Amino acid sequence: MKTPGAIAQQLRGLSEELEPPSQCLFDPQSEEPLLRRTSTAEFSGLELGQIRVIRGGKPRFIHSQRAADFRKRYFPQTTQSEWNDWRWQIRHRIQDLKTLSAMLALSPDEREAIARHHGTLPVSITPYYASLLDPSDPTQPLRRSVVPVTGEYLTSPGESPDPLGEEHTSPVPGLVHRYPDRVLFLVTDFCSVCCRYCTRSRMIGDDETARGFNTRHWEQAIDYIQKTPTIRDVLISGGDPLTLPDEKLEWLLWKLRRIEHVEMIRIGTKAPVVLPQRITPALTRMLKKYHPLWMSIHFTHPDELTPEVQQACGRLADAGIPLGSQTVLLKGINDQVETMTRLVHGLVKTRVRPYYLYQCDPISGSAHFRTPVSKGLEIIQGLRGHTTGYAVPNYVIDAPGGGGKIPLLPEYVAGYDGKDLLLKNYEGKTYRYPDYCE
Ligand code: SF4
Repeated sequence: MKTPGAIAQQLRGLSEELEPPSQCLFDPQSEEPLLRRTSTAEFSGLELGQIRVIRGGKPRFIHSQRAADFRKRYFPQTTQSEWNDWRWQIRHRIQDLKTLSAMLALSPDEREAIARHHGTLPVSITPYYASLLDPSDPTQPLRRSVVPVTGEYLTSPGESPDPLGEEHTSPVPGLVHRYPDRVLFLVTDFCSVCCRYCTRSRMIGDDETARGFNTRHWEQAIDYIQKTPTIRDVLISGGDPLTLPDEKLEWLLWKLRRIEHVEMIRIGTKAPVVLPQRITPALTRMLKKYHPLWMSIHFTHPDELTPEVQQACGRLADAGIPLGSQTVLLKGINDQVETMTRLVHGLVKTRVRPYYLYQCDPISGSAHFRTPVSKGLEIIQGLRGHTTGYAVPNYVIDAPGGGGKIPLLPEYVAGYDGKDLLLKNYEGKTYRYPDYCE
């Protein structure tokens, strides 16, 4: 017979397995999700709900030894359940020199860059992602991607704050309509982790633009999509849309799903990588109601493929969401064939299809991140034929000025000999194809 203590213990264990229902309330008349009129600045996760502290039982989310050691060292009062709560992670993100310098031996250059910073693209690192940073090596790839250096303050020729001309292809605030059949719907300017090479650095974390992300603007954008029947594909991005709470996200998805000509919805996010705790069973249960729903996940380096990230991606894949990766080619971070091979192989194992490799956009202060295009071609050449085509991303330049994505391929066509097409294979050997038919 079980003692009362054992029964209580068992019940506590059970509560670990249960998820609260979706926060979204539906209007009984219209069946429309109810939405308070608030700005996204308010609901970026900072003020939301209670942290649900569950004691005892087995943890719902993987907590690796590395993360556990880091938590005990820098957040000794924090429980494992709090650490695994994405809202706790957002509330405790590292944003200032004092906190960061307690965790990392900052170089003089990093220190100066952080001290000088003001305006958009603030320093912001979730405790989870901070646990992956090398405390003593400023050249570590993950650290370089999130800790500023003074190179950010040098504007080189050809750089601009909005190199893709997004502001000029925006029919209503927050919507970019560059291609006839699809739109980019920017729903927030908030990110839990700020990447130092961000294409939208001009607006991320900006109080001014935050005021532009509210339900009135969302409704304007949805109205534009509704009235434009050529739009069959909507990419929800930002900022990071997965920093919105479930109810806001569900409201957006519900509204878009009701538009008949919208065949496909995509979400662009880095949350599964920098905030894997965000991928809760409640979120995936909600997302899978809005299929066909795809997700583009921003990965930078193979060291990001931790057990936590694998679990988060597994949950999304189990919800039937096709996952693709987007990676920016970055000097000294991922610009080696060996590094990229490890990344794409790790992604395939994580059920994420390597989709895009982007040439770094010439945003202001990006010279220290940008490689020559020949480097990207070398990487594609080092992948194509050496691994499955599923693991080879499309290498593209997003054309400055708003020309859209232009694919770049190494030279595999060597010319013609008469009517024979001369082709080079992945080993550099030449083959002929009879390029004629009756
Ligand atoms: S997650 Fe995306 S939008 Fe956010 S800072 Fe990084 S690159 Fe920019």
